[in-house]
Amino acid sequence: MAEIHEVLQSNLAAVMSRVRSACVKAGREVSDVRLVAVTKYADWSWVQALSAIHGVFGENRPQQLSERSVLLPAVEWHLIGHLQRNKVNLALRHSALIHSVDSLKLLQSIADAATRGNRPAVLLQVNISREESKSGFAAEELPRVWDLVAEYSERVEIRGLMTMAAESSDPEEARPVFAELRNLRDFLCSLGATCRAGINLTELSMGMSGDFEQAVEEGATLLRIGSLLFRGLGPDAG
Ligand SMILES: *Cc1c(COP(=O)(O)O)cnc(C)c1O
Repeated sequence: MAEIHEVLQSNLAAVMSRVRSACVKAGREVSDVRLVAVTKYADWSWVQALSAIHGVFGENRPQQLSERSVLLPAVEWHLIGHLQRNKVNLALRHSALIHSVDSLKLLQSIADAATRGNRPAVLLQVNISREESKSGFAAEELPRVWDLVAEYSERVEIRGLMTMAAESSDPEEARPVFAELRNLRDFLCSLGATCRAGINLTELSMGMSGDFEQAVEEGATLLRIGSLLFRGLGPDAG
């Protein structure tokens, strides 16, 4: 247990130090960038140990998210993976933010499940890299449906956008994808419906273990990092 703790502490410190350097390079405040520790492949003992030193976790699956969040209620849990509409209630009960709203139908289901006095917070996932294997709104689709999206914002708090870059050995290949997400956010902010609905697209969830520095430089406010945090802890480290 003591050893797990030391490895996590050193991995977290290494990641944060790189985040700080990227912030300095980009002229950004470190406090404007939050780290979501992605625990989908992490053993429960690692998750418990990490919760002593970090407070925001992300899970891919609503089921595992719900089981773990009950055991660690002090952590802020985010859902970052695909959400089926029949799991919306489960996800809403257990997550503070859903990063992965990838269709109007899902947004509608979340709006329908939202209760009075509880306006769930979500990000819209955009498939900037246009990979068939990835879900999300097409970048050119979102402006077209924005009036509809804005109508849902009465019941759902749309906080920003999320994307995943294609896997690559060169993190610089992710940079234009991140820049495009930021530009899309800026464009959506300029649309009249955004103002009328009072939508604030402040969050950009982008950047993973292999490309988070590029994401910080391009304006990420939420980094989703898994494998780097658990490196050295075993074959299942993600
Ligand atoms: C697994 C996952 C991550 C974290 O990936 P790492 O490369 O392990 O940092 C981030 N976002 C999503 C949506 C994921 O599924």
